[in-house]
Amino acid sequence: MEKTRRVDIVSKVLAANDRIAAENRRTFAGAGVVVVDVMGSPGAGKTMLLEATIERLAGSARVAVITGDIATARDAGRIARHGVPAVQIVTGEFGGACHLEAGTVAEALGRLDLAAVDVLFVENVGNLVCPAEFDLGQDARVVVLSVTEGEDKPLKYPLAFQVADLVILSKTDLVPHLDVDMEDLRANVREVNPRAEPLEISAKTGEGMDGWVSWLGLVRSKKC
Ligand code: MG
Ligand code: ZN
Repeated sequence: MEKTRRVDIVSKVLAANDRIAAENRRTFAGAGVVVVDVMGSPGAGKTMLLEATIERLAGSARVAVITGDIATARDAGRIARHGVPAVQIVTGEFGGACHLEAGTVAEALGRLDLAAVDVLFVENVGNLVCPAEFDLGQDARVVVLSVTEGEDKPLKYPLAFQVADLVILSKTDLVPHLDVDMEDLRANVREVNPRAEPLEISAKTGEGMDGWVSWLGLVRSKKC
């Protein structure tokens, strides 16, 4: 009985989220903005990947970033240094949510001029669990897993990998210093999501960035 009630509440929360996500999706489509939700654990390298991406897209796309954290505006500060609009959502002010919801994103849109944006990245709160459950109205979802996190993570946190359109294995420059078995890691990604061939990237050295930029180009061309 108790369990049934909890399931009811959870499904109501998700249904409300999905309605707002659908509104966000209409807003983005109307403004011609392509939106990519970037998920991953704390320290996976999401912000650094976005910093490198902004540099790569300079001159070919007008980029903006909405970034979510439980506390601090550090990530928006890092992004803004690259000369693009950056809006920080501090989820602690909404009761410490460990993920972004469609409603918090909708609120952040009030601080952005969408008419001046081609590609909007939403850097989700660092967390490999519940961000996967909340549609934000994005066009595509990416999960970033660093090679330092262990080969087993796709098996232990399957949902984030299953909902992702693209899996990025980040910080590949560190592989020579680690005992990570890359074959095992790739196999575990494929096991939970056979359509997501992982892209291996080092935002530090630039390795793999070409593949990521072309993938973004594909997402953009699908929307146009
Ligand atoms: Mg970050
Ligand atoms: Zn959460």
